[in-house]
Amino acid sequence: MNEEKKQADESAELMYVKCAYCGKWMDVKPGQMNWVSHGLCDDCLKKELEKIRAHPPGADNATP
Ligand SMILES: [Zn+2]
Repeated sequence: MNEEKKQADESAELMYVKCAYCGKWMDVKPGQMNWVSHGLCDDCLKKELEKIRAHPPGADNATP
């Protein structure tokens, strides 16, 4: 998988946004030099939302 198409080619300050779950690179946008920000990609975000919906926080406490 060659993800390094035009990375590090420009000397502009770029911020890389990476998915904290699956490690997929999501976005590159102007920001701090070589800064890597972590977030959730659409896929992982959906999974997380479904997980939360299936198991709402506190639900385990309510049922003995
Ligand atoms: Zn992801």
